[in-house]
Amino acid sequence: MERHDVIVVGGGLAGLRAAVEAKLRGADVAVVSLLYPMRSHSVAAQGGINAALGNADPSDSVERHAFDTIKGADYLADQDAVLEYCQDAIERVLELDRWGVPFSRFEDGRIAQRPFGGAGFPRTCYAADKTGHAVMHTVFQQALRLGVAFYNERAVLRLARDEDGVRGLVAMNLQTGELEAYEAKAVIMATGGAGRIYARTTNSHQSTGFGMALAYWVGAPLEDMEFVQFHPTTLYGTNILISEAARGEGGILLNAKGERFMERYAPEKMELAPRDIVARAIWTEVLEGRGFENEYVHLVISHLGADLIMERLPQIWELALKFAGVDARKEPIPVQPGQHYTMGGIETDKHGRARIKGLYAAGECACVSVHGANRLGGNSLLECVVFGARAGASAAEDVQRRGFDGKEAVERALEEVEGRIKVLLERGREEGHSNPYRIRRDMQQAMWEYVGIFRDEEGLRKGVETIRRLRKEYRESAGVPAPPGPFNQGLLDALIIEGMLDVALVVAEGALRRTESRGGHYRTDYPKRDDEKWLKHTLAFYTPEGPEFDYKPVVITRWQPTERKY
Ligand SMILES: Cc1cc2nc3c(=O)[nH]c(=O)nc-3n(C[C@H](O)[C@H](O)[C@H](O)COP(=O)(O)OP(=O)(O)OC[C@H]3O[C@@H](n4cnc5c(N)ncnc54)[C@H](O)[C@@H]3O)c2cc1C
Repeated sequence: MERHDVIVVGGGLAGLRAAVEAKLRGADVAVVSLLYPMRSHSVAAQGGINAALGNADPSDSVERHAFDTIKGADYLADQDAVLEYCQDAIERVLELDRWGVPFSRFEDGRIAQRPFGGAGFPRTCYAADKTGHAVMHTVFQQALRLGVAFYNERAVLRLARDEDGVRGLVAMNLQTGELEAYEAKAVIMATGGAGRIYARTTNSHQSTGFGMALAYWVGAPLEDMEFVQFHPTTLYGTNILISEAARGEGGILLNAKGERFMERYAPEKMELAPRDIVARAIWTEVLEGRGFENEYVHLVISHLGADLIMERLPQIWELALKFAGVDARKEPIPVQPGQHYTMGGIETDKHGRARIKGLYAAGECACVSVHGANRLGGNSLLECVVFGARAGASAAEDVQRRGFDGKEAVERALEEVEGRIKVLLERGREEGHSNPYRIRRDMQQAMWEYVGIFRDEEGLRKGVETIRRLRKEYRESAGVPAPPGPFNQGLLDALIIEGMLDVALVVAEGALRRTESRGGHYRTDYPKRDDEKWLKHTLAFYTPEGPEFDYKPVVITRWQPTERKY
């Protein structure tokens, strides 16, 4: 059995930043990650990271950043957490600069900042349109320099828990196919978002939400999962992201009639209104017959000029050319909305602690909450470094008062996983077992169709019923025909699909219950925000029959909720 004070699950930006912090504070730290860290979804982040440095406009401030975040969140964010997050932002971004992130710069050498949706000032720092790539390299180098231990290509399949909280975990080594047991005094979940529960998403194949299910299964509640962000501009056909940076630099949206339709939806902010508003506007145009092929609209950047495009948006140009055959220097890019970000996640406090002793979470799998009902662009990389560092610090502090007494809990978890695998393999040999991939596809379709950009009671009921039916089918008859062994993707996916179904059910049921519209959650049958009934966070607790729901108040300090107009 491997033993470390702190084990971080996931080698994305949040996980790496947490590992660095815990290590700097003297803990023995390991990262257990499904992917080699540089293959994590964080690497795909394009547009940038927010901090009120005031380089582009000196009148920007921490308070303005906090206000924009809270308004963007449709007032569902906890305001105390948001303020601290915007304060920490400055130090965390300057620290990245010192560590060597090649930020794009103004002529005078200061870090450049560009406008992003929902922000009152140009506040987004960037490294061209490959910010995630640059930041990940830098933080990974720090982790290697400090001697963080890495167990890569390990899929964590269960957390081990006893009366005293989380004690360790069980992972599958993909290279050998064998199960491995790990004991830890603190486990930090940093497994990223749940985009793959949807059919159309910008997220990588590993953004399954499975890490959220792991925490949920041991009793940690999932918070605000019905709030899902649909990005307005994903490439038609593949749903690869076309960053908001394209609009930040001056790109415009046109429908099939050549109209700049954002005039009708957000006359002031136009294309730079928050994502939920722009996504609904595009989808309304399409549904009302003003899109192309009933599927997409045009994003035009050609007027920005080839020089600017190649300097500031080179990746967007390349993606459009490679994946849609479009040269954005001359032609419009076909775009449609797609799932992009999971606002909800494992409930944590401002310091990354979950409700269960020994369990922490940071990054997209966590919900602090700073994004509330809708996250602003550039605020997520920031969340990874701010709350990654905080979770790492909390864990390093707490492990000083905790021993390794979790051997039995870890062994029980190991047996449980072995049991699951045995059932899947045995069923796989029987005729007529259900194919987990078919179950997954049906789930993804149902989520897109019924729990998507526009929601209503009838659709949500269908969504919930479908997911419940698929979950039952999975439990009763899912099987994997292949024997265990190295790189058994079929077996691994089958195990992960169980978690995806549970997470999808939490999203769908939470959305059905919430009879209002707020941020990313839009109900055509309840089109208004309802602060009297719904200015509260949703909490979902696991039971074998399905989620049990509870609610908790939103922390409001300085900024009273008002109508959100752009
Ligand atoms: C295309 C795209 C562009 C984006 N652009 C921006 C942007 O410009 N600015 C911004 O602020 N945000 C952006 N975002 C959002 C932001 O990038 C993500 O929210 C953030 O990077 C998530 O980081 P993370 O560390 O939480 O998770 P990830 O980077 O997704 O890492 C998750 C890690 O967990 C591991 N893992 C998962 N499951 C398991 C398991 N069971 N066992 C072991 N390991 C596991 C994976 O291997 C991976 O290493 C973008 C997102 C996308 C998809």
